[in-house]
Amino acid sequence: MDEKQVKRRIVLVPVPAQGHVTPIMQLGKALHSKGFSITVIQTQYNRVSSSQDFSDFQFLTIPGTLTDSNLQSLGALRFLMKLNQICEASFKHCFGQLLQEQVSRDDIACVIYDEYMYFSAAAFKEFQLPSVIFSTTNATAFVCRSVLSKVNADKFLIDMKDPEVQNSLFPGLHPLRYKDLPTSAFGTLEDSISLYSEAVNTRTASAVIFNSASCLESSSLLRLQRELQVPVYPIGPLHIAASAPSSLLEEDRSCIEWLNKQEPTSVVYISLGSLGLMENKDMLEMARGLSNSNQPFLWVIRPGSVPGSEWTESLPEEFSKLVSERGYIVKWAPQMEVLRHPAVGGFWSHCGWNSTLESIGEGVPMICRPITGDQKVNARYLECVWRIGIRLEGELEKETVERVVKRLIVLGEEGADMRKRAIDLKEKLEASVRSGGSSCSSLDNFVNSLKTKNF
Ligand code: UDP
Repeated sequence: MDEKQVKRRIVLVPVPAQGHVTPIMQLGKALHSKGFSITVIQTQYNRVSSSQDFSDFQFLTIPGTLTDSNLQSLGALRFLMKLNQICEASFKHCFGQLLQEQVSRDDIACVIYDEYMYFSAAAFKEFQLPSVIFSTTNATAFVCRSVLSKVNADKFLIDMKDPEVQNSLFPGLHPLRYKDLPTSAFGTLEDSISLYSEAVNTRTASAVIFNSASCLESSSLLRLQRELQVPVYPIGPLHIAASAPSSLLEEDRSCIEWLNKQEPTSVVYISLGSLGLMENKDMLEMARGLSNSNQPFLWVIRPGSVPGSEWTESLPEEFSKLVSERGYIVKWAPQMEVLRHPAVGGFWSHCGWNSTLESIGEGVPMICRPITGDQKVNARYLECVWRIGIRLEGELEKETVERVVKRLIVLGEEGADMRKRAIDLKEKLEASVRSGGSSCSSLDNFVNSLKTKNF
């Protein structure tokens, strides 16, 4: 890269939520290491701070007008739609100022925006700048969202109410069933379809980047390459290639000391990510089942994740008693370090895409309990395609919890085979981000296309 190109700038536009911030900041790190300057334009919510790790990055904030109480009452889906309505003008203004005061149009190599920050596309069009979509979910969920954006909404709503249809395969998306489609639990079905349609219909990007790898989902990536008619770059998993600490909550590292005292591959690590909620009765059944399994467990219970309770105070005394026998609770864990720890034998997860990649990246098999959106797609792939996860469906009961933990960690062949497959996949992922690997080459191709302005 020559002197002129070293100074070229990439602007990133993240969705203000942990699962989106983490991979886009990793992408920023990866591109920074290739010689680009990075500007992050973010909303006022869940802002990433310009910590030591990002000291070379420029951070700009676009003003918004939603208060936190608005956010909570809207739910995640409507919040995103609202954000897209209210931020378009202020983003254009902020971007215009950046161009006027600090950098020339030619210095900007491209703008990379999270698929759901589609309001930003209007500004790129106006300033005639190349834009690229970054999808923080996998390619298969992206395919599903394109399909959902075009369904006949009336028919789909009827279909989704029929239990028989829910359990049947969705045409053209094998092995996904209707109930595995990435519709959101944080809004109505109509809201999901509206959001996906808006995001799809405003797409003008010249390329799409995925935090995924060909060894995980080659057929969906090939399908997208065909259907989108713009280059598709699977460059993940970014957390292996470009770790970039961007936790929005404080990590409690005391759990590592606790893990140090546990037997190898004995611990069940439990986390529902940054948004997942769990009712009191499910928490209690889980604690009973975990306790009956006799396995130690490390449980992340985020403040606010038990509805009607600040933390765990609304749970009955039995819960604390069960947990204190074999478990350890934290409000937020250093997840990647936890998954890397030799004591961890399995990950009970909501199957967010980052958690899924992090677990596969450490060869840890999973208990899959998806809640919403693409988590359902990931869980289906974990169980049926990669075969490194056990899906837990239906009501949570202590007997099923105990059984699933034993199947994964304690009893013979099934768990051992899953662990072996998880380790094989971990090795494939590591190879894909090494020099000459598919994701590493894909990132190089993307960077070369920026150099030659070839998109
Ligand atoms: N995470 C963490 N500590 C925790 C729980 C989660 O650092 O105690 C991180 C995790 O490593 C992952 C992210 O939060 O990178 C969650 O993203 P994911 O896509 O899995 O789920 P989401 O939060 O978007 O539902």
